[in-house]
Amino acid sequence: MKKGLLIILSGPSGVGKGTVRRYIMDNFDLPICYSISMTTRPQREKEVEGVDYYFVTPEEFQRNIDANNFLEWEEFVGNRYGTPKDKVEELRKQGKHVLLEIEVNGAGEVMSKVNDDRVISFFLMPPSLEALESRIRRRKTESEKIIKERLDKGKKEMTMTAQYDHVVLNDNVARASQEIVDLIEQKAKSK
Ligand code: 5GP
Repeated sequence: MKKGLLIILSGPSGVGKGTVRRYIMDNFDLPICYSISMTTRPQREKEVEGVDYYFVTPEEFQRNIDANNFLEWEEFVGNRYGTPKDKVEELRKQGKHVLLEIEVNGAGEVMSKVNDDRVISFFLMPPSLEALESRIRRRKTESEKIIKERLDKGKKEMTMTAQYDHVVLNDNVARASQEIVDLIEQKAKSK
C-alpha cells in the first residue's frame, strides 16, 4: 500500500484555512485525517475540545515539548501551538492522508524534518488585505490588539510563500477547495 500524503495547509490567520479544510472533508471522498493540534490559546466559544484543538495549560504544553511529543511546535501571537507526532506516521502508513493546518514557521520545520517525497504543501492566499481584516473582525473572537498582531503576522507570512509547492487564492471556498483537491489527487497518484 502506498503511504498517505502529508498535506500542509498554511496561510495567514483569518484566510479561511479551517473553512476550506472542512469543505474538502465534507464534499470530497478523499481519505484525509485532520491532525488536531495542541494549543495554549484560550478556547473560543464555538470550538470543541479534541475536535478543533487539544486545549492545554502552558505547563502541560511544556511537558509535551520535554517528552518530545511534537513533530513541530511554534509560538504564534503569544500562544503555543504544536502538532502531536504520534498519529501522523501511523495514519500515513495505513494509506491515509494527514492534513496539518499550521502557520509558516511550523510548516517550514515539517518540510525540512519529514524528508519523504509524499509531502504536499499549500499556502492559502486572501484576495486582499481588506478581505483578510474583515474576516478576522467578523469572527469577533479577538481583542483589537490581537487583531492587529495577527494582521501584522499575516502580512509577514504572505512574503514567505516560496517554500510551498502551491499558492492557492481563496477567492471562493468551493473553487479553492477544488483546486487543492485536484492537486492532492495528482500527487497521490504519483510515485
Ligand atoms: P488560531 O489561534 O487562529 O486557531 O491559530 C493561529 C495560527 O496557528 C494559525 O495560522 C494556525 O493554522 C496555526 N496553528 C494551528 N495549529 C498549529 C500547530 O500545531 N503548529 C503550528 N506551527 N501552527 C499551528
